[in-house]
Amino acid sequence: MIYRNYGRSGLKTAAIGFGGMRFENPHDIDASAETVLHAFDKGITYFDTAPGYCDDKSEFIMGRAVAEMKKSGRPFTLSTKSSKSDGSVLREELERSLERLGVDCIDFYNCWYVLTMEDWEGRKRGGAVDAILKAKEEGLIKHAVFSTHLGGADIRRVIEEGYFEGVTLGYSVMNSAYRQEGIEAAAENGMGAVIMNPLGGGLITGSGDALDFLKVRPEQTLLESAIHFLLNDERISTFLVGFRNKDDVDSAVAAVESFRPYTAEETAKLTKSITEDFNSLCTSCRYCDVCPEEIHVWAFQEVWNHLKLTGSTDGLANRLKYHWSADLTELERCTSCGACEAACTQKLPILDRFAQLEKELKS
Ligand code: SF4
Ligand code: SF4
Repeated sequence: MIYRNYGRSGLKTAAIGFGGMRFENPHDIDASAETVLHAFDKGITYFDTAPGYCDDKSEFIMGRAVAEMKKSGRPFTLSTKSSKSDGSVLREELERSLERLGVDCIDFYNCWYVLTMEDWEGRKRGGAVDAILKAKEEGLIKHAVFSTHLGGADIRRVIEEGYFEGVTLGYSVMNSAYRQEGIEAAAENGMGAVIMNPLGGGLITGSGDALDFLKVRPEQTLLESAIHFLLNDERISTFLVGFRNKDDVDSAVAAVESFRPYTAEETAKLTKSITEDFNSLCTSCRYCDVCPEEIHVWAFQEVWNHLKLTGSTDGLANRLKYHWSADLTELERCTSCGACEAACTQKLPILDRFAQLEKELKS
């Protein structure tokens, strides 16, 4: 296993973390806890869960595993979260999480799922941030952190307000241009950076050979190329993989163990692929964020990537809504002015893709 620093906290975490949102059969608490314990035996030390994950069973599963992990005497860390803006409701959720997990203190408590800057202001106004900091003072939380789908520049703004010690952000070889600045800001401020969606929501490994250009070495699988991209960046503390079962753990751990740092030439090759070889795909660079009608142009193009690579509309409306705070009705405001196409770094036919998405999602 590879271990990385969690910012300047002095804590080390395994470079791959356990995302507790995809258990194969979450209603079987004991069998699911066995998957967690298997990961712990393989050297994984960071375990992430949340109220509501897996029919609200995930925290119970982690709690069952925690009881066993404590007996081992080996170190591990737990992360859970609340998306509530109201401080007193957040406090109730925190106390429930402590009970479910069977611990007196949660290592990482996330101000969860900060989606927009308005949302962030609401978390402060509603008392959620104060409640997290108070719980830290009381010793119920070790590290106050936040998780977000904001873009890199907004992540920097939240980081620089100074409330938190770490950030959990969606980041992968597919969207690195869009959130790179968030990773930079975390490193500059001595904060840990935990990655969610390291496989682009399954897109990278589920895309057949369309993304083969992301392989830096001929022997790499796509899974390895996605994971090695993250491992090559030492500012990243850990990345979370949603494990369904022990086999998922084994293949991800094997991909970590096959990592050898990239040479300068290999890094340059990958950077070139990310910026030039996406061909017809959107790189989420967000240079098209110029729309006078305030349409989330990049969000529709990222969702179009999923349509193109998977051939399926499954989950795409939810992706628009929950990842990007966007919805299809926005496209009715488009005046076809062309400003977004003129600004696009990939010179993509954005308007044609809007039309295609509208047709596919409405049908
Ligand atoms: S073409 Fe439509 S989406 Fe693009 S900038 Fe103009 S109004 Fe916005
Ligand atoms: S549509 Fe073009 S400019 Fe906009 S995010 Fe995608 S690649 Fe970047």
